[in-house]
Amino acid sequence: MKAFTYERANDALQAAKAAAKPGAKFIAGGTNLLDLMKLEIEQPTHLVDVSRLPLTQIEDTSDGGLRIGSQVPNSDLAADQRVRERYPVLSQALLAGASGQLRNKASTGGNLLQRTRCYFFYDTNRACNKRTPGSGCSAMEGFNRIHAVLGASDHCIATHPSDMAVALTVLDAQIETIRSDGQARRFPLSELHRLPGDTPHIETTLEPSELITGVLLPPPPKGKQIYRKVRDRASYAFALVSVAAIVSIDGTKLQEARFAFGGVAHKPWRVTEVERTLSGKVIDDQTFIEAGELALTGAKGHGANDFKIPLAKRTLARTLADAARA
Ligand code: SF4
Repeated sequence: MKAFTYERANDALQAAKAAAKPGAKFIAGGTNLLDLMKLEIEQPTHLVDVSRLPLTQIEDTSDGGLRIGSQVPNSDLAADQRVRERYPVLSQALLAGASGQLRNKASTGGNLLQRTRCYFFYDTNRACNKRTPGSGCSAMEGFNRIHAVLGASDHCIATHPSDMAVALTVLDAQIETIRSDGQARRFPLSELHRLPGDTPHIETTLEPSELITGVLLPPPPKGKQIYRKVRDRASYAFALVSVAAIVSIDGTKLQEARFAFGGVAHKPWRVTEVERTLSGKVIDDQTFIEAGELALTGAKGHGANDFKIPLAKRTLARTLADAARA
């Protein structure tokens, strides 16, 4: 690991200002960053510790939603009674992620900013445009079983590994940040992560020293919420495909169906045009099978990950059916 200096921030603006120095990075739980530093994939010269900032509260908002401080550990968020009762899809997604020890350390903000688990990104002997821009992509013609089938580019086919981000996307969450000039902003989580394009090393729309201070949840939506994660083993594994779904019904018809995929793209993948077509449809297997077909329109496999396309279709159909019939 390369040498670095360290400071502990006492307030959010001070943290953002400290992180504006060249070579500086935020650290919270460190569950991804420290591994990357040991491999010298990340080489910060200065770490700004934001883990002790007073951003550890989960608060009710006046409109009936919740504000989640960015330093709330994943375990605390999953266990919060309000989250379990009003946003079960979020609690389920968090508990499907990582291990108990990691969830105790990992923060809400850090979970959103964790980096891909592409094998070649972690292997410094292999070409990777995300690690070394312009060097090539070893996954394109290599073993790409865990890689993206939607929204990828010729430069990168990596996926985003967070389960929590998929649930927050279907819940229409918003992100709150502060910049080093003191400007605070709020924007939809769906605008946080970028597709790889020809700059896969730029993963979010945040400025380098912009600190996530919180996540805002709107009032809980009507209907049944389900997070389904398909993976190689039952715990401590990343999603091959996951689906977060919220479905409300009116008699024998769908009133509203929302869904987002994980494990298939560089960001949580939501297809609102398909969601709109489901409103008013009869609740039967054909409706859900068609939704799967439509949602995967344009999907492209790269050999070892071809199986993800039918898997994603079936996972969506099954999750929507379960939510509608619960
Ligand atoms: Fe690197 Fe992306 Fe290719 Fe993986 S898929 S090797 S992260 S460029």
